[in-house]
Amino acid sequence: MRYQSTRGTAPELDFRDVTLAGLARDGGLYVPVEWPRFTPEQIADLAGLSYVETAVRVMAPFVAGSLSEDELRDLCTRAYGRFSHDAVTPLVQLDHRHFLLELFHGPTLAFKDVALQLLGLLFEKFLTGTDRHLTIVGATSGDTGSAAIDAVAGREKIDIFMLHPKGRVSDVQRRQMTTVLAPNVHNIAIEGSFDDAQALVKAMFNDADFSGRFHVTAVNSINWARLMAQVVYYFYAAVRLGAPAREVAFSVPTGNFGDVFAGYVAAKMGLPVAKLIVATNVNDILHRALSSGDYSAGTVTPTAAPSMDIQVSSNFERLLFDLAARDGAALGEQMRGFEASRAMRLTNAQQQGAAALFASDRIEPDEMARAMAWACSNTNQVLDPHTAIGLAAARRADLAPHVPVVTLATAHPAKFDDAVERATGIRPTLPPRVGDLFEREERYDVLPATFEAITGFIAERGTPKS
Ligand SMILES: *Cc1c(COP(=O)(O)O)cnc(C)c1O
Repeated sequence: MRYQSTRGTAPELDFRDVTLAGLARDGGLYVPVEWPRFTPEQIADLAGLSYVETAVRVMAPFVAGSLSEDELRDLCTRAYGRFSHDAVTPLVQLDHRHFLLELFHGPTLAFKDVALQLLGLLFEKFLTGTDRHLTIVGATSGDTGSAAIDAVAGREKIDIFMLHPKGRVSDVQRRQMTTVLAPNVHNIAIEGSFDDAQALVKAMFNDADFSGRFHVTAVNSINWARLMAQVVYYFYAAVRLGAPAREVAFSVPTGNFGDVFAGYVAAKMGLPVAKLIVATNVNDILHRALSSGDYSAGTVTPTAAPSMDIQVSSNFERLLFDLAARDGAALGEQMRGFEASRAMRLTNAQQQGAAALFASDRIEPDEMARAMAWACSNTNQVLDPHTAIGLAAARRADLAPHVPVVTLATAHPAKFDDAVERATGIRPTLPPRVGDLFEREERYDVLPATFEAITGFIAERGTPKS
């Protein structure tokens, strides 16, 4: 499989090099040159397979040329062996049509583990036998950071520098990052928002001097391998609900548009997806873009669902590229216009293309709390705030009555215990697998949100190219 950049001028790469590169050199994001297609028979054959076997079937076309099927199976077995549920991503039924897909059974309690446990092993595999040393630079609104740190802590030939917005992640989220004391892990609390952190990371990638000195790579969902790993659970869930004979809808609490883009890929591969519901909180740029074509960034409002407190959704570019006839030059121009003014209009083709598969909704804080209370009293399920936003959007979506709706449960409720307690009166407790999180020593540095401060910090501690 070959991969091309959404901005058309970076070289085409294979899966190995796309994984190690993260962002494309022209500022774009990598996507496969074509979507692999599964026939209904191939999808029907997934019925009853384990999560690992499903993962091997779904991901094999994307890694072709870089990994054999046996190598892929070995990596998946190790990555998903660390999950606390045998099904890895179990489905839970809420009522006659609503389901939760629980994606939080990994080591750090959010869906990011599904992709990052695999990505850590992919990095290690692709670095073995080379003289490369990777410098991972990431921005996190909470969950990516802990999942990435868990996935690479202590691994050779990798340093990780993780930026989080100071004071805007939950205590559990912060401690899951800052109590990992492995020498290759560097946590930086920046004095700014998640968007500031993400912009700094992008600037480092695009800086010729910085990226000339270090082999920098991304673990944010701009890294294609992450999205690829997330495509798997759409197949896994839909097949259990009757695909390919039956259409299934998904409601996805959305921030950076990574998780829901994986659903788009699954649909492109032939999975019968009735609708992808993009659920946002009051930071609703995606809802405005999908409902009226207005993609303009405001300022971030902090909410009880911090992993969705995002105004610029990096992966939306991948969708816009696919819906704009894959014209990299035109998309590059559109995106540069957005970067200059923080606003743009979708083209008619992009708007119509998106409307065929996507719906969107904006969920207010009181609606989120009501969804939590409903799930608690009617289904005995305690939801985290992100999942509750997804469920609220699912329950009022305009869908044919026979279509089952799967809400992606993206985090364990104990990760956001204060918000859950406010809405339901129940204080969820951390599962035993996270251990004595609140007893452990923390380590992190606080830095201003400037390019000079961050690159100076990394230059002092990182391992440059040899
Ligand atoms: C990251 C995250 C999201 C948003 O996912 P995107 O891929 O950025 O759209 C939603 N919920 C939780 C709990 C998350 O960690």
